[in-house]
Formats: sequence, structure tokens, C-alpha cells
Amino acid sequence: MENLFASNDVIQRLFDLQGEDALLGQLEHQVKTLPEREKLIALNQMKIKTEDLIRTQQNESDEQFKKEKRLELELLSIETRLSEVDEKLYSGVITTEKEAKSLQGEIAHLKERQDTLESDLLEILSLIEESNSNIDSCNSQLEAQNDDIKTVENALSVIESELTQKVLEAKSRREELVKVITEEILTSYEAHREHFPANAVVRFEGPTCNGCYLTMSAMETDRIKGLAVGAVTECSECGRLVVR
Ligand SMILES: [Zn+2]
Repeated sequence: MENLFASNDVIQRLFDLQGEDALLGQLEHQVKTLPEREKLIALNQMKIKTEDLIRTQQNESDEQFKKEKRLELELLSIETRLSEVDEKLYSGVITTEKEAKSLQGEIAHLKERQDTLESDLLEILSLIEESNSNIDSCNSQLEAQNDDIKTVENALSVIESELTQKVLEAKSRREELVKVITEEILTSYEAHREHFPANAVVRFEGPTCNGCYLTMSAMETDRIKGLAVGAVTECSECGRLVVR
């Protein structure tokens, strides 16, 4: 490229501009990789799992409750039948041994069924108690998870607004700097920045390039040394802008 020239002041602004661009790059990276956002995603996934678990347990509990009601209903009908049969047996209307035997047989059968149902009922009641306690503990877990989510969301929004503010400030400083840098230097800087986003422009301080850290040839070093202070050229090794 053809050498460009700029005053000390403009050169200083050019480095300031590069500083702002570096800062903007860092801020952009920081915004994209905030640990709070990762944490929030993980917390929300945990919350969905807890909610699924609660739903499953609630369905189970509903089934257990229905079963309890069915058992209670059948027990009630057995009790009714038992008292009917009992009443009939001792009412004096039974005259034959055979009739009495048949009613006694029914009573025995009903009582056996009653025992089975009662033990089933006890079992289901204990399962219901267990389910309710599980649902309670999942609900407390969910509440704690919701609190954690709120805390992280608040932290995230504070950090995001701080970073957004910093970005706005850097952009506005950048705009001011761009105004005082000559157009050809700016155009050249922008073109070089596409290849070297972190350091498109470096100062000349001897044969070692401050961008690529390669040693320029003695001829190249002499060439740059021979330029006027404020000259902007390119490193023959990497192509970065080098300010004499
Ligand atoms: Zn270089």
C-alpha cells in the first residue's frame, strides 16, 4: 500500500479507536458467554424435571384416591349386606337348618372379603400418605428452584444492563474518535481490522513487529526508519499497519 501520514494527535486517536474496538469485542464476548445465562438454562431444566415429577406423582395420587373410594364403597355395601344377613339370621324367620347354614356361609364369605378390603384400604392409605409427602417435598423443591431462578434472572439483568451501558459508552467514544481521524487512515484501519481484529495497527519500535513478533529484514527496518514520524505503512511479514 501507499504510505499514509498523520499527525501525532490523529495517530493517538487511531490507537484509542483500536482500544475501543478491542473493548467492544471483549464486551460482546462477555455478553454472549455470561455464566448467569448458562446457570439460568440449567435451573430452568431442573424446574421442568421437578414439574414433570409432580405431575406424575399427582396422577398416581389421583389413581390411589379413586381406588380408596372404590374400596370404601365396596366395604360399605358389605357392611350393609352383613347387617341384613345378620338380622335375617336372628329374626326368627329362618326355620330350617339348611337356610341358617346358607346365611352363615354368606356371612363367613362376606367377612373374608371385608378383611381383604380392609387390608387393601390400609395399604392404599399408606401409599396416599407417601405420595402426598413426596408431592409436598417436590413442591418445596420447586419453590426453592423458582427463588433461585428469580435471583439469577435479576443478577443477569443487572449485568446485562451494565454491559449494555458500557457498549453504548464505548460506541459513543468511538463515534467521536472517528470524526477526527482522516478518512484514508480510517478506511485503511477498517480494512486491516477484518484480518486482524485485535491489533490491526502497531507502533514501530525496531526490527521486531509488535503485531506478529517476526523480525523484519534489515532493509525493511531501514525503510521504515527512514519514514517520517507519523507515517503509516505495512509490516512486510504480517501486513498489519505499522506506525513510524
Ligand atoms: Zn508483523
